[in-house]
Amino acid sequence: MTSALEEALLAAIRTIPDYPRPGILFRDITTLLGNARAFRRAVDELVHPYAGSKIDKIAGIEARGFILGGAVAHQLSAGFIPIRKKGKLPHETVRVAYSLEYGLDEMEMHVDAVSAGEKVILVDDLIATGGTAEAAVRLLRQMGAEIVAACFVIDLPDLGGRARLEALGVEVRTLIA
Ligand code: AMP
Repeated sequence: MTSALEEALLAAIRTIPDYPRPGILFRDITTLLGNARAFRRAVDELVHPYAGSKIDKIAGIEARGFILGGAVAHQLSAGFIPIRKKGKLPHETVRVAYSLEYGLDEMEMHVDAVSAGEKVILVDDLIATGGTAEAAVRLLRQMGAEIVAACFVIDLPDLGGRARLEALGVEVRTLIA
């Protein structure tokens, strides 16, 4: 059964067929971000279970994870860590390679972005295969962070990302599937 919240969020997300390639149904959250009520509800729901908990940092995955993650960080009075595609961060970084549908890519984080033992929530707009989020989890854990949860607005359950993160011992929170 779909809740009123899920219906409202689903209605605020635009689907673009065959973008960026034929056969892909691209879930475009720019319409949700542009809808003040839907944006607030999505952020409130992502934050809700962690309100009152001590969260040190929110790690957002480039680029849509920056927008949602920044809002979540503000709500939880946490710091923000940008996790970026390689070559974009100015200071010394740690880097992890991960596989895409075709070939490999790398993502980076500043070496001093997180300290050992800090409690971190990972945020992105959508989880599909989970490859991107898994790479981010590995980066954060490499620096000693404790991953409290990984939060996404959208889950594409057929692609198995949630199970992949749960197998790494990461709690996964998604708002709509
Ligand atoms: P994955 O690594 O397969 O879990 O893919 C997740 C990343 O790719 C996220 O950063 C998403 O923003 C993006 N992504 C993957 N599939 C889609 C889709 N169908 N619509 C929108 N974004 C997607």
